[in-house]
Amino acid sequence: MIAHIISIGNELLIGDTLNTNSSWIGRFLTERGFRVDEVRTISDDYDKIIEAIEHGFENADMVVSTGGLGPTHDDITKKAVADLFGSGMTLNREVLEYIKVIFRRRGLRFTKSNREQAMVPDAGEVLFNRQGTAPGMWFEKNGSFLAVLPGVPHEVKHLMETGVDRKIRECFTGREFRVTRYLKTAGVAESTLSDELIGDLGAFIDNGYDIAYLPGPSGVTVRVSTNGASTVDAVNRLQPLMDHIMGKAGPFIYGEGRDLQLSEVLGRILSEKGLQLAAAESCTGGLLCNTITDIPGSSAYFTGGEVAYSNRIKTGGLGVPGQDLEQFGAVSKPVALQMAKGVAEKYRADIGVSTTGIAGPGGGTEEKPVGTVWMGFYLAGQHFALEARFTNNRLINKERTVAVVLETLRRNLLQIGTTPYDLKPRYP
Ligand code: ATP
Ligand code: MG
Repeated sequence: MIAHIISIGNELLIGDTLNTNSSWIGRFLTERGFRVDEVRTISDDYDKIIEAIEHGFENADMVVSTGGLGPTHDDITKKAVADLFGSGMTLNREVLEYIKVIFRRRGLRFTKSNREQAMVPDAGEVLFNRQGTAPGMWFEKNGSFLAVLPGVPHEVKHLMETGVDRKIRECFTGREFRVTRYLKTAGVAESTLSDELIGDLGAFIDNGYDIAYLPGPSGVTVRVSTNGASTVDAVNRLQPLMDHIMGKAGPFIYGEGRDLQLSEVLGRILSEKGLQLAAAESCTGGLLCNTITDIPGSSAYFTGGEVAYSNRIKTGGLGVPGQDLEQFGAVSKPVALQMAKGVAEKYRADIGVSTTGIAGPGGGTEEKPVGTVWMGFYLAGQHFALEARFTNNRLINKERTVAVVLETLRRNLLQIGTTPYDLKPRYP
């Protein structure tokens, strides 16, 4: 089942409004088994609206448009759609009554242009909008379907989750469904993952599976999808591919699910093992503690930590010898080691981790360029530090440091005998 999305509105094209509707709808339709293969953003222009919808009817099973249903002169979507179907317009009593209720509730005066909002093309079916004044509409042409929705994002979500969802279930039974799943990795380069670990997947691709590698600052996500006669059927068809990938790259995959976080997985491992974690942060400035505590229930395994930004705090709070700071500098192995040990002792945790680095853009030297980060680990009789060279971008360096610390811990606790790819282990 192929879907197109049409976003209508001048404000989207000139950059005043970010097109969040299309990404939200894209995800919604994908989760329901559609393959979204075109998103068009167009101006509030009569001919362009007609052209985009006709193109959708020719090439897709389902078209969703948003925007341009309001009462003002620049909103012309409804007229264009009615003309496309050669359809007259009728006043919908139920919609009119509801608009009046909204106006009374908000203490607004009801005008002629508000009455216009209750006019709907005869060729369509009304999708009742409880969150606003512009009704959604549903049309069919030659076996393809069109949902016409207003532009306001929370009204779009409401209509997609109610009327559109109901119509999809009504109109698309017995068709092919598409299912997508996400395998999340950390600490492994995209090319290593695809070329060396997982290898050639041509046989799967020839059999109707789609596979994509999606790199992000904290890891590479492997997205796999395929079709089936039902969602369950598609899930079953996907399983052999998932098993194949798990077999090849299992240790590097921390879990499954588009929104799964590495910190969540690590949290589960710490809980199961009954271990407590503490963190001392310099270059990450609190991002590590923040990422850990984004997970509900993290108090079960996270005791606390601190941002030890200045040398004074590294020395006084965490016991880093002034001598080490002078001799090796704040961004160094001895300092990372002591920060990790110091914070574990101070916060009475089983595990201490630390970060100290040159986040950039300034402050680099030939010996320690921007992106140099030391991370310290103190756990279960081990005491080691790792050095990384990340990028010139301050925020990316912070994110990658956090990801590497979390992934190093995950691998260590699960006894996966490798460290994240851009690091060399340096035991004391
Ligand atoms: P209503 O009658 O409820 O106002 P409408 O169909 O007239 O709806 P528009 O006037 O096109 O909608 O847009 C309403 C608001 O929604 C505007 O603030 C606009 O910036 C925002 N909006 C429109 N399209 C999108 C989109 N694709 N993504 C995010 N916001 C959008
Ligand atoms: Mg508009």
